[in-house]
Amino acid sequence: MAIRVDGKAAVDAAIIAVGSELLTPHKIDTNSLYVTQVLDDLGIAVAFKAIAGDSRADLRRLIGHALTHHRVLVLTGGLGPTDDDITRDVVAGFLGLPMTEDAGIIRALKERFAARGWTMPEVNRRQALVPRGATVLANPHGSAPGLWIAHDGAQIALLPGPPREMRPMMDGQVRALLAPVAGRVRLHRRLIRVSGKGESAVEEVVQPIYAAWRHQPQPIETTILAGLGQVELHFVTQSEDAAVAAAALDAAVGQIERALGADLVSVDGAELERVVGVLLKARGWRVAVAESCTGGLVTSRLTDIPGSSDYVERSVVAYSNQAKIDLLGVDPSVIEAQGAVSEAVASAMAVGIRDRACVDVALGITGIAGPGGGSDLKPVGTVCIAVAGHEVRVRTLRFPGGREMVKALAANSAIDMLRRYLKEA
Ligand code: ATP
Repeated sequence: MAIRVDGKAAVDAAIIAVGSELLTPHKIDTNSLYVTQVLDDLGIAVAFKAIAGDSRADLRRLIGHALTHHRVLVLTGGLGPTDDDITRDVVAGFLGLPMTEDAGIIRALKERFAARGWTMPEVNRRQALVPRGATVLANPHGSAPGLWIAHDGAQIALLPGPPREMRPMMDGQVRALLAPVAGRVRLHRRLIRVSGKGESAVEEVVQPIYAAWRHQPQPIETTILAGLGQVELHFVTQSEDAAVAAAALDAAVGQIERALGADLVSVDGAELERVVGVLLKARGWRVAVAESCTGGLVTSRLTDIPGSSDYVERSVVAYSNQAKIDLLGVDPSVIEAQGAVSEAVASAMAVGIRDRACVDVALGITGIAGPGGGSDLKPVGTVCIAVAGHEVRVRTLRFPGGREMVKALAANSAIDMLRRYLKEA
């Protein structure tokens, strides 16, 4: 449905990705995500997208649907020189526009081939066909030029499939051509990250608050998305005036902040590990990590942040009991008495690496990722996580899912426990 502003429909868009490989399990359509980002920036909401294989009839039907309902249509792919590259032909046919060979494109193609010491194959002539009235979009990164067609109030962009060719064209030439169409209304967004609560628990807290936002003078649309161990809240509002939008979003974020308390990770889209980095730096602290079942995932995520060498001191993957004893000084009798997956061992791992690394705070993680190794008392998915700073905090958690999911959820919880500890410290 078109997003409406002041009772009028804002300009909205359709995207069609062309290519039969995009209908296989091996290739994902990432172009439409990039196109959506640029359109979003321009205040053009994407209302429809689809993938077409190499059937001309399917593509024609999709184009028909898109142009009946939307003013902007972006197609990517299918501009190559071979028979299965159908986009140019089908669009021109649908609009009833004859095509003529463009001498400038032929020249550029010949030069491109000559630069490699080749002669242009005849099939490439097809790439020089331009529907009447279309604007040619130069492609400095490949052979297929893009096309821009303004026809009967619709704006249509035909872009090459390879992302490295499509992106600069979309962000440069197409953005400039669409800017006057888009008008002055822009989409303004905020991304709020939440950890430690499931999607429905977050929904329960925030839904009563944001239900009212749809009907306020500056309406805000909300979306809730669940990720692994985290929930994202997306707030979107439309306005010509950035200050009006910012004020409405600030007020909304303030309400959500108060409702979610410590579960709120960030209000500017910052990831958990980035927030932890900021908190460590603000305190001038360094962190060390002793990982068992997460196999280094926690450290991997902490070090995904540029500049993390300022606060990540070291990490040990102590997978076997012997490694926990040798590298972290865990008492073998504690492992014997309580088991390797126990709060006592997680705490001893965190304290062991904290003291050996001489850091202010450390994490210890030990658990059963499965599929084997579980028991009635400690089923697969049981993970003990300890934070050792000036005091030791330890928790036992039960995660659902297979091995990969348990590892990812455990890593997330460990980083989140560190975040909560740092906020209070
Ligand atoms: P050319 O044939 O000149 O490379 P084209 O416009 O015909 O350009 P396609 O043949 O459709 O492009 O696609 C070329 C490659 O680009 C594909 O093999 C695929 O790797 C990538 N590609 C195409 N469409 C998409 C898409 N929607 N998302 C991500 N990658 C894509």
